[in-house]
Amino acid sequence: MTTEEAYKTVNDLCTKSRFTKYPSLKIDNTMKDVGGQRGYSIYINKVLFGALSNESQTVVVAHEWGHFLEQDLQEGYFKGKFISSDMIADWFTAKIGLVHELKADRKYGAEYDTIIDKYQEIEQFPSRISRWEQRKLSGIV
Ligand SMILES: [Zn+2]
Repeated sequence: MTTEEAYKTVNDLCTKSRFTKYPSLKIDNTMKDVGGQRGYSIYINKVLFGALSNESQTVVVAHEWGHFLEQDLQEGYFKGKFISSDMIADWFTAKIGLVHELKADRKYGAEYDTIIDKYQEIEQFPSRISRWEQRKLSGIV
């Protein structure tokens, strides 16, 4: 993906969403991880990002973009629920239509895939994904 294509991806993702404040995208070598956020910018590590498939590149940008919406989602859709910031960012990635890309990139297994497929719209998403994530962090799944 070229820088221009990455910008186009961000713009495409923004137009699929009800959110109107667009983060800017910076592709350089500032981040040691493939992606991250600072201020109101998404930073992408050019070398690491370039080694990913187009599918994974799209997921990285969408996930990082989802992090900007954490606070809104914590105070809105997920109010009173326990859910980690990474799972909010993944939920957002799925929610804007990148379900197939997310599952293909994560390769977390059938349970994660099922939660992403079936529970995006309903109350149980936070509790199910949090239980799964705790077991994943413990090395159980
Ligand atoms: Zn994250």
